[in-house]
Amino acid sequence: MTPREMVVNAVGVSEGIAIGEALVLSRPRMRLPNYRLPDPELVAVETGRLDKARGQVRARLSAARTGLPPELYSQAGIIDAHILLLDDPLLTGEAGRLIREERINAEQAVLRTIEKINGLMAKVADEYIGARLSDVEMLAHALISALMGDKAGRMPLIPAGSILVVRDISPADLMEVAQSEAKMAGLVTERGGRTSHTAIVAQALELPTVVGANNIGSKLNSGDTIILDGRIGRVIIRPDQETLAKYRDRQAVEWSFTTEIVRSSHLPALTLDDRRINILGNMELEEELPAILNYGSEGVGLYRTEFMYLNRKTLPTEEELFQTYSRVVRTVAPRQVVIRTLDLGNEKTPVGPATAGPGSLNQALGLRGIRHCLSNRDLFRTQLRAILRASALGDLKIMLPMVSNIDELRVTRTLIDEAEESLRREGTPHKAGLPLGTMIEVPATLFIARELAAEAAFFAVGTNDLIQYALAVDRANPEVSEMYQPLHPGILRMLKLILDIGRETNTPVSICGDMAAGSLTAGVLVGLGAETLSMPPAAIPKIKRLVRMSSLAEMSALTNEILTTRTAYEAAALATSRLSDRFPELLN
Ligand code: PEP
Ligand code: MG
Repeated sequence: MTPREMVVNAVGVSEGIAIGEALVLSRPRMRLPNYRLPDPELVAVETGRLDKARGQVRARLSAARTGLPPELYSQAGIIDAHILLLDDPLLTGEAGRLIREERINAEQAVLRTIEKINGLMAKVADEYIGARLSDVEMLAHALISALMGDKAGRMPLIPAGSILVVRDISPADLMEVAQSEAKMAGLVTERGGRTSHTAIVAQALELPTVVGANNIGSKLNSGDTIILDGRIGRVIIRPDQETLAKYRDRQAVEWSFTTEIVRSSHLPALTLDDRRINILGNMELEEELPAILNYGSEGVGLYRTEFMYLNRKTLPTEEELFQTYSRVVRTVAPRQVVIRTLDLGNEKTPVGPATAGPGSLNQALGLRGIRHCLSNRDLFRTQLRAILRASALGDLKIMLPMVSNIDELRVTRTLIDEAEESLRREGTPHKAGLPLGTMIEVPATLFIARELAAEAAFFAVGTNDLIQYALAVDRANPEVSEMYQPLHPGILRMLKLILDIGRETNTPVSICGDMAAGSLTAGVLVGLGAETLSMPPAAIPKIKRLVRMSSLAEMSALTNEILTTRTAYEAAALATSRLSDRFPELLN
C-alpha cells in the first residue's frame, strides 16, 4: 500500500509552488581508498594528487562561470568566492597537513577534513557561519569526487518538471543544473539556511525552494509526487487528490499573479489617492542588488554589514570594506544606500577576531550593535573610514544599530569627524557631513525621540528588535514565537508615536524590519502614516502592488479601527477580515 500524504515543514527560501515528481539524490556511499604512506616520496605523490584534484575542481568551476546564462551573471561572484575557498586553510590546508603529518592518503585526508568541518558546523549557532562552512564542505566533496576520477562529481540529468531532493547542493551545481535545457520545477535540501548562497542562487533563478528539511530523503522515493510551497517552507509528500487539486488551483493563480506584479513593479508605489510610498530594499550580500534594482526600488534602505566580519580569522581591512561598499554604492547610484554600521552580537554572534563579548551571557542585552563598536574603537574607525571613502561615489547615509541613548550618537559623530579630518589631511576622496541616522529598536528611544530628532538626520525603525525588546520575546526562540506579535496594541501605539514624532520634527522615518514585508502589516504601517518601507527584495513587487491598489484614506480608517482593539488576535482578525476580500492574492 502506498504510504499516505505526509507534511514536512522546513524553511522556505524562494517563493513559489512546485508540483512534480521527486528526484532523490543521495551522495553515493563510495568506498574510499584507505592507505598509509610509509615513505616521504609517497607523501609528495598524495599532495600532488590533492593539488591535481583541486585544479580539476577549479577548472570545473571556471567552466560553470563562463557558461552562465544571463539571469545568473550577477551571481558569478559566488563562483569566484568558491574558487578562492578551494585554497582555504580549513580545506586544502588542513587536508595537506593531514597527508604530511598523519601520513594518510588524499581521500582519507579530505574525509577527515569534512568530519572536522561538520564538527564545527554542529558547534556554531550562527546561520551565516554555518552557511559558509557548508560551502567549504561541499567543495570538499567535490575534491573527493575529483580524486575518485570524477565518477560521482557531476549532477545527473534532471528530468524536466521534477523536484530535486538532495542533502545539499553547491551554488555552482545548482547553476549548472539551471543551465541545462530541462527545467526542474523545484528544490528541497535537507541542509542549509535562509542565508546560504544556494538559497540566494535559487532566488535569482526564481526556483521554488525549501531548505533545512531534515531527513526528508528517508521519507520518500524518487518518482513520488511532491508539492513544495517555497513561501511558507512546506513540502507535502504523496499528496492525496484533494490536496493536489487545491495546490494546482493555487499554483495557477500564483503564476498569473506573479507575472502580473513583477511586470508592474517598476511603476512607482502611488496609492489610489496619490500618496507616494518609498519602497526600498534590505540587503547584506551584493548578490541581492540585481533583484532590488530590477524590482524598481528606490535604493537600499538597510545595508547590513555584519557579513564581512563573520567566519574569518582576520578582520576585514579598510581597503577590503571600501572596495565592497564602493561596488554597492556605484551599482545603486544615483539612488541612495543607507549603510548600517556593524551590528554584531545577538543572533549574529561571530567567532574569530570580531567576537562581541562572552557568548554564554544574554547577547541580546549585551555588548551588541553600536555598544560593541564603541568598545572596539579601532574596528569601528576602520569601518567608518571605509564608509566615508565609499560615500564619494554616490548617495550614502550612515545608520547606527541598537542605539539606546543620545551619547552613542554624539560619540559616533565625533569619531566620524575625526575620520573625515584624517582623510582630508591624507587627501583621500570622501564626502563630508554624511547624514547620520539612528535605528529605533530599543523601546526607551521612543520616549527620547524628540531629543534624538534634534541630532539624528533620520530614524529607521527595526521592528524585529523593537518587538523583541518591547514584548520581552526572543525573536529567534520557537517556544515563544506565538507571543511575538507585531499587531500587539502596545507595538502599534509605539509605531504611531514614532511616526507622529517624525512628522512633527521633520525627521524622515523608515520602517525596515520584517513588518514592512508582510502584506497585512505593511498595510497597517501605511495606515499609521509610514511613508518609507524597506524590505527584502523578494517582497518588493507584492508590497508595491498592495500600495498601488489601496488608498491612504482607506488604510488610515482601517488602522484607526485596529488601534482600538485590545489584543493582537483581535487586531489580526479585523485586518484580515477587511483586507482579505480586497487583496485575496496578496494575503493568502
Ligand atoms: C530589525 O531589528 O528590525 C532590523 C531591521 O535589524 P536586524 O533584523 O538586522 O536586527
Ligand atoms: Mg535590529
